[in-house]
Amino acid sequence: MIHEIFPVGPLQCNCSIIGVEATREGMVIDPGDDIDEILALIRKHHLQIKLIVITHAHIDHVGGAMKLRAATGAPILLNQNDYALLRMLDAQAAWIGVPTPGKVEIDRSLGNSDKVEAGSLSAAVLHTPGHTEGSVCLYFPAQKKLIAGDTLFAGSIGRTDLPGGSFDKIIRSLHGTLLSLPDDTVVVPGHGPLTTIGEERESNPFLVKS
Ligand SMILES: [Zn+2]
Repeated sequence: MIHEIFPVGPLQCNCSIIGVEATREGMVIDPGDDIDEILALIRKHHLQIKLIVITHAHIDHVGGAMKLRAATGAPILLNQNDYALLRMLDAQAAWIGVPTPGKVEIDRSLGNSDKVEAGSLSAAVLHTPGHTEGSVCLYFPAQKKLIAGDTLFAGSIGRTDLPGGSFDKIIRSLHGTLLSLPDDTVVVPGHGPLTTIGEERESNPFLVKS
Protein backbone atom coordinates (compact mmCIF):
# COMPACT_ATOMS: atom_id res chain seq x y z
CA MET A 1 0.00 0.00 0.00
CA ILE A 2 1.19 3.49 -0.80
CA HIS A 3 0.70 5.75 2.23
CA GLU A 4 1.96 9.32 2.38
CA ILE A 5 1.27 11.20 5.61
CA PHE A 6 1.60 14.90 5.03
CA PRO A 7 0.94 17.59 7.69
CA VAL A 8 -1.08 20.41 6.13
CA GLY A 9 -2.01 23.96 7.07
CA PRO A 10 -1.16 26.09 10.11
CA LEU A 11 -2.48 23.42 12.56
CA GLN A 12 -0.48 20.67 10.78
CA CYS A 13 -3.36 18.24 10.28
CA ASN A 14 -2.04 14.84 9.13
CA CYS A 15 -3.44 14.36 5.62
CA SER A 16 -3.20 10.76 4.36
CA ILE A 17 -2.80 9.87 0.69
CA ILE A 18 -3.38 6.13 0.32
CA GLY A 19 -3.14 4.04 -2.83
CA VAL A 20 -2.80 0.57 -4.34
CA GLU A 21 0.55 -0.03 -6.09
CA ALA A 22 -0.85 -2.41 -8.73
CA THR A 23 -3.86 -0.43 -9.92
CA ARG A 24 -2.96 3.13 -8.84
CA GLU A 25 -6.40 3.66 -7.26
CA GLY A 26 -6.44 5.71 -4.10
CA MET A 27 -8.13 7.95 -1.58
CA VAL A 28 -7.25 11.11 0.32
CA ILE A 29 -8.20 11.51 3.97
CA ASP A 30 -8.46 14.98 5.60
CA PRO A 31 -7.20 17.38 2.91
CA GLY A 32 -7.33 20.38 5.25
CA ASP A 33 -5.05 22.69 3.26
CA ASP A 34 -1.99 22.76 0.96
CA ILE A 35 -3.87 21.13 -1.92
CA ASP A 36 -1.12 21.93 -4.47
CA GLU A 37 1.34 19.83 -2.44
CA ILE A 38 -1.24 17.04 -2.05
CA LEU A 39 -1.79 17.06 -5.82
CA ALA A 40 1.97 16.86 -6.39
CA LEU A 41 2.10 13.71 -4.20
CA ILE A 42 -0.87 12.24 -6.06
CA ARG A 43 0.95 12.84 -9.37
CA LYS A 44 4.22 11.46 -7.98
CA HIS A 45 2.48 8.13 -7.29
CA HIS A 46 0.34 8.29 -10.48
CA LEU A 47 -2.79 7.81 -8.39
CA GLN A 48 -6.36 8.10 -9.50
CA ILE A 49 -8.25 9.41 -6.47
CA LYS A 50 -11.62 7.68 -5.97
CA LEU A 51 -12.69 9.17 -2.62
CA ILE A 52 -12.08 12.16 -0.38
CA VAL A 53 -12.82 11.09 3.20
CA ILE A 54 -13.20 13.60 6.04
CA THR A 55 -12.80 12.31 9.62
CA HIS A 56 -14.72 15.31 11.04
CA ALA A 57 -15.84 18.79 10.02
CA HIS A 58 -13.13 20.92 11.62
CA ILE A 59 -11.63 23.40 9.18
CA ASP A 60 -8.09 22.06 9.48
CA HIS A 61 -9.34 18.65 8.23
CA VAL A 62 -11.92 19.70 5.61
CA GLY A 63 -10.75 23.15 4.40
CA GLY A 64 -9.19 22.00 1.11
CA ALA A 65 -11.81 19.38 0.17
CA MET A 66 -13.61 21.41 -2.53
CA LYS A 67 -10.36 22.34 -4.27
CA LEU A 68 -9.29 18.68 -4.22
CA ARG A 69 -12.69 17.57 -5.54
CA ALA A 70 -12.44 20.08 -8.38
CA ALA A 71 -8.98 18.73 -9.29
CA THR A 72 -9.74 14.99 -8.98
CA GLY A 73 -13.51 14.62 -9.51
CA ALA A 74 -13.66 12.38 -6.41
CA PRO A 75 -16.70 12.59 -4.08
CA ILE A 76 -16.40 14.02 -0.55
CA LEU A 77 -17.62 11.81 2.35
CA LEU A 78 -18.45 12.91 5.91
CA ASN A 79 -20.63 11.53 8.71
CA GLN A 80 -23.96 13.38 8.70
CA ASN A 81 -23.76 14.19 12.42
CA ASP A 82 -21.09 16.76 11.50
CA TYR A 83 -23.16 18.57 8.84
CA ALA A 84 -24.13 21.28 11.38
CA LEU A 85 -20.47 21.88 12.19
CA LEU A 86 -19.72 22.09 8.49
CA ARG A 87 -22.18 24.98 8.20
CA MET A 88 -20.03 26.83 10.77
CA LEU A 89 -16.83 26.93 8.70
CA ASP A 90 -16.82 30.75 8.61
CA ALA A 91 -16.93 30.86 12.43
CA GLN A 92 -14.25 28.16 12.64
CA ALA A 93 -12.01 30.20 10.31
CA ALA A 94 -12.47 33.22 12.58
CA TRP A 95 -11.51 31.16 15.70
CA ILE A 96 -8.11 30.31 14.30
CA GLY A 97 -7.62 33.42 12.17
CA VAL A 98 -7.48 31.88 8.69
CA PRO A 99 -9.45 32.80 5.54
CA THR A 100 -12.75 30.92 5.15
CA PRO A 101 -12.61 28.13 2.57
CA GLY A 102 -16.21 28.88 1.51
CA LYS A 103 -18.99 26.31 1.41
CA VAL A 104 -18.06 22.61 1.38
CA GLU A 105 -20.57 20.23 -0.26
CA ILE A 106 -20.77 16.63 0.90
CA ASP A 107 -21.53 13.99 -1.72
CA ARG A 108 -22.23 11.08 0.62
CA SER A 109 -22.65 10.47 4.36
CA LEU A 110 -20.37 7.98 6.09
CA GLY A 111 -22.29 5.70 8.45
CA ASN A 112 -20.96 3.40 11.17
CA SER A 113 -19.74 0.07 9.65
CA ASP A 114 -19.85 1.46 6.12
CA LYS A 115 -16.90 0.46 4.00
CA VAL A 116 -14.80 2.95 2.07
CA GLU A 117 -13.04 1.34 -0.87
CA ALA A 118 -10.59 2.28 -3.58
CA GLY A 119 -9.57 -0.69 -5.73
CA SER A 120 -8.46 -3.47 -3.40
CA LEU A 121 -8.14 -1.07 -0.44
CA SER A 122 -10.92 -1.35 2.08
CA ALA A 123 -11.49 0.42 5.38
CA ALA A 124 -14.31 0.08 7.89
CA VAL A 125 -15.88 3.31 9.11
CA LEU A 126 -16.01 3.46 12.92
CA HIS A 127 -18.33 6.18 14.22
CA THR A 128 -16.47 7.56 17.27
CA PRO A 129 -18.36 10.63 18.58
CA GLY A 130 -16.85 12.80 21.30
CA HIS A 131 -14.38 15.23 19.71
CA THR A 132 -17.33 16.09 17.44
CA GLU A 133 -20.73 14.38 17.00
CA GLY A 134 -19.79 13.05 13.57
CA SER A 135 -16.17 12.04 14.17
CA VAL A 136 -15.16 8.80 12.46
CA CYS A 137 -12.04 6.66 12.39
CA LEU A 138 -11.06 4.50 9.41
CA TYR A 139 -9.78 0.98 10.08
CA PHE A 140 -7.83 -0.86 7.38
CA PRO A 141 -7.81 -4.47 8.73
CA ALA A 142 -5.51 -5.92 6.04
CA GLN A 143 -2.88 -3.27 6.77
CA LYS A 144 -3.58 -3.16 10.54
CA LYS A 145 -3.85 0.61 10.34
CA LEU A 146 -6.23 3.12 11.93
CA ILE A 147 -6.71 6.67 10.71
CA ALA A 148 -7.93 8.19 13.97
CA GLY A 149 -8.79 11.81 13.13
CA ASP A 150 -8.79 13.87 16.34
CA THR A 151 -10.23 11.05 18.52
CA LEU A 152 -6.92 9.49 19.63
CA PHE A 153 -3.40 10.98 19.74
CA ALA A 154 -0.08 9.56 20.94
CA GLY A 155 -0.39 10.02 24.71
CA SER A 156 -3.60 12.05 24.55
CA ILE A 157 -7.14 12.27 23.17
CA GLY A 158 -9.12 14.87 21.23
CA ARG A 159 -10.38 18.01 22.97
CA THR A 160 -14.06 18.00 23.83
CA ASP A 161 -14.65 21.68 24.71
CA LEU A 162 -15.62 22.81 21.20
CA PRO A 163 -19.24 22.79 19.87
CA GLY A 164 -20.46 19.20 19.55
CA GLY A 165 -17.78 17.87 21.88
CA SER A 166 -18.50 15.47 24.77
CA PHE A 167 -15.96 13.99 27.16
CA ASP A 168 -18.30 11.12 28.11
CA LYS A 169 -18.84 10.23 24.46
CA ILE A 170 -15.15 10.26 23.50
CA ILE A 171 -14.30 8.02 26.47
CA ARG A 172 -17.07 5.64 25.39
CA SER A 173 -15.79 5.69 21.78
CA LEU A 174 -12.24 4.98 22.91
CA HIS A 175 -13.06 2.15 25.36
CA GLY A 176 -16.00 0.70 23.43
CA THR A 177 -14.62 0.90 19.90
CA LEU A 178 -10.94 1.73 19.47
CA LEU A 179 -9.58 -0.40 22.32
CA SER A 180 -11.25 -3.47 20.81
CA LEU A 181 -8.75 -3.27 17.91
CA PRO A 182 -5.59 -5.45 17.99
CA ASP A 183 -2.57 -4.08 19.91
CA ASP A 184 -0.37 -4.06 16.79
CA THR A 185 -2.71 -1.69 14.95
CA VAL A 186 -0.74 1.36 13.82
CA VAL A 187 -2.58 4.57 14.68
CA VAL A 188 -2.26 7.64 12.46
CA PRO A 189 -3.66 10.50 14.57
CA GLY A 190 -5.05 13.73 13.15
CA HIS A 191 -2.02 15.59 14.48
CA GLY A 192 1.45 14.60 15.69
CA PRO A 193 3.38 11.32 15.67
CA LEU A 194 2.12 7.80 14.94
CA THR A 195 1.49 5.30 17.71
CA THR A 196 -0.14 1.87 18.19
CA ILE A 197 -3.27 0.70 20.01
CA GLY A 198 -1.08 -1.41 22.34
CA GLU A 199 1.15 1.55 23.21
CA GLU A 200 -1.88 3.73 24.02
CA ARG A 201 -3.61 0.92 25.95
CA GLU A 202 -0.45 0.70 28.11
CA SER A 203 0.45 4.33 28.65
CA ASN A 204 -2.24 6.81 27.52
CA PRO A 205 -3.48 8.45 30.78
CA PHE A 206 -7.04 8.58 29.39
CA LEU A 207 -7.08 4.87 28.55
CA VAL A 208 -5.22 2.97 31.25
CA LYS A 209 -7.52 1.27 33.69
CA SER A 210 -6.98 2.54 37.22
ZN1 LIG B 1 -10.68 18.50 15.20
